[in-house]
Amino acid sequence: MHIDTIAPADPTWQTQALCAQTGADFFFPEPGSSVREAKRICGMCELRPACLDYALRNDERFGVWGGLSEKERLALRRANA
Ligand code: SF4
Repeated sequence: MHIDTIAPADPTWQTQALCAQTGADFFFPEPGSSVREAKRICGMCELRPACLDYALRNDERFGVWGGLSEKERLALRRANA
């Protein structure tokens, strides 16, 4: 789960990260499955900027982070390269 890797010592992640309340299935869907629900949840999450920053800095390749899919993060990395 994302919150374990972002800030394990900070309990506020757990109360603020909406993915912690919904489960990981939305955020790590089977290949070809929709990420729409994960992105909708990210859109309401206060941690979105920090989560996306973490994923980009740590080159997270799988799942939805900070509201962006794997492909979208890859495109963002390439655009900023
Ligand atoms: S932005 Fe999305 S993936 Fe990141 S902590 Fe929030 S709900 Fe979880």
